[in-house]
Amino acid sequence: MIPAASPAPHPRDAAPSGDWRRLWREAVRDPRELLTLLGLDEAALRISDAAAAQFPVRVPRGFVARMRAGDPHDPLLRQVLPLDVEMQPAPGFALDAVGDAAARAGHGVIRKYRGRALLITTGSCAVHCRYCFRRHFPYAEETAAAGGWQEALDALRADHDVSEVILSGGDPLSLATAKLAELTTQLADIPHIRRLRIHTRLPIVLPERIDDELTTWLGSLPWPVAVVVHANHANEFDADVDAAMARLRDAGRAFGGIALLNQAVLLRGVNDSIEALTALCERGYEAGVLPYYLHQLDRVQGAAHFEIPDSQALALHAELVSRLPGYLVPRLVREVAGDASKRRLA
Ligand SMILES: *Cc1c(COP(=O)(O)O)cnc(C)c1O
Ligand code: SF4
Repeated sequence: MIPAASPAPHPRDAAPSGDWRRLWREAVRDPRELLTLLGLDEAALRISDAAAAQFPVRVPRGFVARMRAGDPHDPLLRQVLPLDVEMQPAPGFALDAVGDAAARAGHGVIRKYRGRALLITTGSCAVHCRYCFRRHFPYAEETAAAGGWQEALDALRADHDVSEVILSGGDPLSLATAKLAELTTQLADIPHIRRLRIHTRLPIVLPERIDDELTTWLGSLPWPVAVVVHANHANEFDADVDAAMARLRDAGRAFGGIALLNQAVLLRGVNDSIEALTALCERGYEAGVLPYYLHQLDRVQGAAHFEIPDSQALALHAELVSRLPGYLVPRLVREVAGDASKRRLA
């Protein structure tokens, strides 16, 4: 039977739940295609195939659309483009920069700090950020999802000090919503868990992920929820991101809305100026997101060219304090293996 012809729905009017998967699959994976899309000449940028082989390129096309065509210094492009400098040896830059290997308390659970346990839900991310400490970590095998949730849930159930579970990864929202719901249904049976936090870059790099299915799931959860997104530059926000943030915030009505926070990494050539940092904090706030942490870089192999000395980081932070209201100033922190919390630099 041939169905009656119906007009194709406008993508924005009728994005069906799950459509984000198509956008995920269509991400740019070839650094040369990225340059072509931006009208850039390969000669202007020293792309490294070896770096791309070590940690493959992946950038959703909507994120590419926020880059400035023709600008090899674009702050979004710098975060995702594999360059020759990544392969230069840098003393002090290690494979496991933050001591995660030592801190695993169970399959896919990392327990470093009192009261909070981090659950590695998946190794996948929609975007691959060149500075990420996970670029060398075998997360593909070490996620809680890989062997079912049981071992991770047992570890959380046994640890009565844990009142907050942080879904992290990789990017937890890269899992199907049904899979996330399966997990939270089981977490809801653990009485000492009172808060849920989600660390995700997807609302920024693929805002279509915040679909009705996801917000319905979030609205059904029995705890207050905080979503900590990750944007490093004001240009990462656009109208689609604003809309995704509004949908997220409204999803947690039972608890006065979902708290939206941003963590950023201080990165040379991306946001190492007072103008860039001020704009990031102000633009995030326009999207309903408060600054949380400004991280000093994890010293992971391949990321040395992004590093900012502490003296410069402290000076930038002091200038932020002088320009912005207190609630728009992130805490400047560094993760130090073995510490009982993120180390406050300012
Ligand atoms: C960063 C981190 C947390 C969360 O720390 P907060 O200061 O609560 O944001 C929890 N567990 C691990 C392993 C972390 O790396
Ligand atoms: S974990 Fe976060 S910072 Fe690292 S690659 Fe994934 S999205 Fe980027």
